[in-house]
Amino acid sequence: MKRNILFTVFALLIVFSMALSACAPAAEAPAGKALVGISMPTKTSTRWISDGESMVKVFTEMGYDTDLQFADDDIPNQLAQIEHRVTKGAKVLVIAAIDGSTLSDVWKKAKEAGVLVIAYDRLIVNTENVDYYATFDNFGVGVIMGSQIEEGLDLKNQAGPFNIELFGGSPDDTNAFYFYDGAMSVLQPYIDSGKLVVQSGQMGMDKVGTLRWDGTVAQKRMEDLLSAYYTDKRVDAVLSPYDGLSIGIISALKSVGYGSADQPMPVIGGQDAEVASVKAMIAGEQKYTVFKDTRELAKQTAAMVDAAIKGTEVPVNNTETYDNGVKVVPSYLLTPFSVDVTNYEKYLVESGYYTADQLK
Ligand code: BGC
Repeated sequence: MKRNILFTVFALLIVFSMALSACAPAAEAPAGKALVGISMPTKTSTRWISDGESMVKVFTEMGYDTDLQFADDDIPNQLAQIEHRVTKGAKVLVIAAIDGSTLSDVWKKAKEAGVLVIAYDRLIVNTENVDYYATFDNFGVGVIMGSQIEEGLDLKNQAGPFNIELFGGSPDDTNAFYFYDGAMSVLQPYIDSGKLVVQSGQMGMDKVGTLRWDGTVAQKRMEDLLSAYYTDKRVDAVLSPYDGLSIGIISALKSVGYGSADQPMPVIGGQDAEVASVKAMIAGEQKYTVFKDTRELAKQTAAMVDAAIKGTEVPVNNTETYDNGVKVVPSYLLTPFSVDVTNYEKYLVESGYYTADQLK
């Protein structure tokens, strides 16, 4: 009898300790050995290259192994790269998705393999298998865009009316909606009062979205808008949520004569502080850009990963905004900065993001 009780207690102890180790955070595994798979959407935009390189640097300094890949804006390619990482035994996936909604099977497989999944800058939607989201205040990015247009046209003091056309980002990227909504939180009252007029009437992300953030698509749309609505009118401002779109839009504008003394450029900005666009800003063609310090995002992401791997408290500062359709993903939002000719040296050069020579 006594032996039976002893045996039962012993068996319970074993079961209990097994249960404990199963609950233990992804790792017990020595942090220094974990492989972090990093997947960035494309190399066509320099920001993603900086993001990738910064992450490799930070994770390596923290003692992790990394595997960085770019997916050429091709969804099946990104999917295959991620699956390969899971098979290879990655402990962590840091993903800036091309399309945040089409990869759900992969996340399930990753979760089943015990992989920590971090949505990097772009939210992964329609799955419970994403652990954290590291990004910027995306609505705040849009507010900067709207405010720069408000300032550029001096809307608070001028009577107008002014003509504006609106461009949105890729509809498969939730950020695009936050940018648009943030910008419209500033611009819509002026549209309602008639101080700003959208001659084309094209408003709302379903009408103004630009699939895959493609600059050539934006250029073509701007050309069409100019020939359909602006042969005898001037466009005074263009909302563009990304430097790569602005480059296309600016070429369309230049091709019909904007950018000269009698026909100045409309107020147009962008996002990401890409070198070509900062140069355009210095040359007076683009008014502003929204600077998001990718080095900081990389650091923040690595801090979140490291805490999760070590089972300590993961630093997040927002647990309300980013509902991905299945759950609210705990997030860390960094601050975006409004950058124009008055302050680019401070934000972009003095901070070491670019050298002065790169901007010449
Ligand atoms: C990012 C922006 C970027 C855009 C195009 C968005 O998800 O947040 O910074 O401009 O993608 O690459």
